[in-house]
Amino acid sequence: MPAKSSFGHVIDGKEVDSDDGATFDTVDPWTREPWAEVALGGAAEADRAIVAARHAFDEGPWPRMGFAERGAILHQLADLMEENSRELGLADSRDMGKPLAQSQGVDVVRAAHNFRFFADHARLSTGEQLPMPGHHIYTRYEPAGVVAAIAPWNFPLMLETWKVAPALAWGNTVVLKPAEDTPASATILARLALEAGMPPGVLNVVHGYGPESAGQALTENPAVDRITFTGESGTGKIIACAASQHLTPVSLELGGKGANIVFDDADLDNAVDWAIRAIYTNAGQVCLAGSRLFVQRGIHDEFVSRFTAAAEALVIGDPKDTATQFGPLASKQHFDKVSAYLDLAPSEGTVLTGGRGEGWVVRPTAVTGIDPASSRLFREEIFGPVVVIVPFDTEAEAVALANDTRYGLNAMVFSENLSRAHRVAAALDAGTVWVNCFFIRDLRAPFGGSGDSGIGREGGNFSREFFTEPKAVVMQIAPSAMD
Ligand code: NAD
Repeated sequence: MPAKSSFGHVIDGKEVDSDDGATFDTVDPWTREPWAEVALGGAAEADRAIVAARHAFDEGPWPRMGFAERGAILHQLADLMEENSRELGLADSRDMGKPLAQSQGVDVVRAAHNFRFFADHARLSTGEQLPMPGHHIYTRYEPAGVVAAIAPWNFPLMLETWKVAPALAWGNTVVLKPAEDTPASATILARLALEAGMPPGVLNVVHGYGPESAGQALTENPAVDRITFTGESGTGKIIACAASQHLTPVSLELGGKGANIVFDDADLDNAVDWAIRAIYTNAGQVCLAGSRLFVQRGIHDEFVSRFTAAAEALVIGDPKDTATQFGPLASKQHFDKVSAYLDLAPSEGTVLTGGRGEGWVVRPTAVTGIDPASSRLFREEIFGPVVVIVPFDTEAEAVALANDTRYGLNAMVFSENLSRAHRVAAALDAGTVWVNCFFIRDLRAPFGGSGDSGIGREGGNFSREFFTEPKAVVMQIAPSAMD
């Protein structure tokens, strides 16, 4: 058996073990065997990383560099990520079962792009100038300081860089805590950052759990200036409470229960294709998943038969095989959670396709005939490959059903009727509405949700607002010449 890989914390420019030598195994959900050993940190390591980040911010060169100089290092890091895309992609695939075609082929590419985009965005951003009689005001965007970034396991590297890249581009220093199920790619990222010439203490990585561990310690430390968190809504509420003790600003990107509305004038091929990707990409472990599929009565039966045929055609297998489209769920714990919903499904409606597969696989599953008012499958975030399909008659009914959720993250609308598409997009309570598509991102656009989906938006200028302290400089203009 090949030797297990090992991943340490990266603190102040060095890869280190925990003070007490504690470690944990990270398990490959396809083989269900440990594949790597990881340093297990706690409050001591989190605090040490914050001291390093604080020092790098208060005394070090990073916040004092120009945008071009910092940007060159971030671009160099993006180059190195692309050169090491297989190692990074395999790390996420082994940690959480994502097909390599997705991790290496999509996530690493987007992660590298995050660094390039935010480096360029910061360099090209301008402040405002606000002339007034007798005075002149201009704005500056000062780096906020030390950023704690706490990440989930579903898109490990991609979501970590979505936080780390803008934070660094604006001159902050960072302590990143990846999810305990997906630690490997974060350590590799920090190794590459050092290789790219990033000064010590600028990007620190601490491994560990959330409650009473490294995660909690990061949220309670008064030396942290920003907390950016992506994860479950319940965890977000706990983190918001912890952050309130020191009035630390938080950005929370939380759960979702995406509505996907298909009108009977939709391009059916396009709608089926996106509906499949919306719920079954990453085995449904996507905050944006289109897990509530509303189909207008006139096309319902035709749509459902095409949808189930496409679901059954997905290639399930070893994530490391590049032909695989659909892998296992990320962990035994998560498999058990999603399995409990499979057990519930027959009492709530009719299972059209899907169910348990080999090991920790849940096959692409579709359930119909549920009552939206009471169904737990409809109301709760399953975070797996389980969609509920609900027929509707009118536009108003579709909007009411889509908005009948505590989550306001995203929705999709499929219609060839221009006015209807705009009308419905405006009426939906969601941070992002995709029309006749899904997952298309431009990093300038705001990303985030309302209600139980979180607080705040990130992306482009929205990330600048969060990761900086905007400052107004007000100058008097002397009314007459002094000489
Ligand atoms: P989670 O909340 O269990 O864990 C996320 C991270 O928080 C992990 O690193 C964990 O160790 C840490 N954590 C847990 N408790 C903590 C505490 N008390 N203090 C500090 N840190 C703590 O979430 P998860 O299961 O890893 O991720 C899945 C969830 O993330 C889903 O609900 C999904 O919808 C959501 N998500 C949202 C978005 C978005 O952009 N809105 C994107 C991806 C995932």
